Amino acid sequence: MLIVQKYGGTSVGDVDRIKNVANRIKATVDAGNRVAVVVSARGGVTNELVARAKAINPKPADREMDMLLAVGEQETIALTAMALHAVDQPAVSRTGRQAGFRTDGAHTRARIVEITGGDIGQRLESGEVVIVAGFQGITDDGQVTTLGRGGSDLSAVALACALKADLCQIFTDVDGVYTADPRIVPNAKKIDEISYEEMLELAAMGSKVMQARAVEFSQKYNVVFEVRSSFNDNPGTIVKAEVPSMEDVVVRGVALDQNQAKITVSDLPDKPGAAAKIFVAIGQANVLVDMIVQNIGRGGAANLTFTVNKDDVPRAMEAVQKVLPEIGGGVVNHTGDIAKLSVVGVGMRSHAGVAATLFNILAENSVNIQMISTSEIKISVAIDLEDAKKAAQAVHDGFELGV
Ligand code: ADP
Ligand code: ASP
Ligand code: MG
Repeated sequence: MLIVQKYGGTSVGDVDRIKNVANRIKATVDAGNRVAVVVSARGGVTNELVARAKAINPKPADREMDMLLAVGEQETIALTAMALHAVDQPAVSRTGRQAGFRTDGAHTRARIVEITGGDIGQRLESGEVVIVAGFQGITDDGQVTTLGRGGSDLSAVALACALKADLCQIFTDVDGVYTADPRIVPNAKKIDEISYEEMLELAAMGSKVMQARAVEFSQKYNVVFEVRSSFNDNPGTIVKAEVPSMEDVVVRGVALDQNQAKITVSDLPDKPGAAAKIFVAIGQANVLVDMIVQNIGRGGAANLTFTVNKDDVPRAMEAVQKVLPEIGGGVVNHTGDIAKLSVVGVGMRSHAGVAATLFNILAENSVNIQMISTSEIKISVAIDLEDAKKAAQAVHDGFELGV
């Protein structure tokens, strides 16, 4: 079989863990497989590099950020190849450029255009393990890019697709995808199989276990993958296309995003086109907006409040600021940080009453709801950051996900 394995930051966090990863890779080769591996930076390294950049310049240029952040993965590919050599396993490291990860030029959030693979195919044929740097790519004019935080997941599923791998395994520090983040909800349960759609909603709503864009990619190209632990041999979670029995479960899981901010545009002239101009500008700045509330304030002017990822606040504010003169007024402010709590399940399509149950559980626990958004298979609420953990546990228990 041709197998693509991805090892995340904690799994390659120090020398012993890299040796452990090398042993697992070698065991997979010894079992008769060809193996291509995608690795992340050591846990914490990317965050440290971001912090160092911000200490030097609070608004670092995106191009230079990519140049900096790509360093983390480049360290790990070399160390992992060396660890394989030390156990007599032929292996070679490849950067994103060498592996032909062609992307567009949207620095810090680039999109993959094509993966040519470079010489990976030949190397695998000749019995070598190829270790590819996750998270990074290259534009056609040679600029280093990165694929957004958590982007090694995307590198792995995209490589599995390009190589037509038989199996794609995402090794991490938990046994699989749980009904909630097990660090926040200790009685969360491992899910054996989950649909792309549910996994995508959970990821997009803050479940860090998979990068949302990676799930979107695998859904589009039907790349089945398994999320499992690099620290044991327990079976993990299979992520694949929906099968009918999956609809029997109404709520599959709870996601919590504690990194959300509210932005309010007040005194906005209440006329057609104002909201369009604002959200077009935000979209062009590559910022994702989730919840939106509009109300009419004093004197007929509108107030528009929406949520974005906290890291995107400066980018979003700048985009709105630029477009306000064109609209003829308005003031933009960052009006606070919130948590977003979501319940997700494909069964919501055919079962009514999930919203009512959710709101009741929150009310019983004195959690105030600030905003609401829904899709066919999810309901999200914006709540106070202080209530986040208590609310996640209560909702998880209320929907009986731990039993
Ligand atoms: P890696 O470095 O391997 O990519 P991440 O830290 O990005 O690992 O993702 C794994 C973490 O995701 C877990 O340690 C866990 O705390 C968190 N997590 C959030 N939601 C979930 C969930 N529903 N199931 C499992 N893990 C989750
Ligand atoms: N090292 C990158 C990050 O921390 C990519 C990844 O780990 O997937 O976001
Ligand atoms: Mg990750």
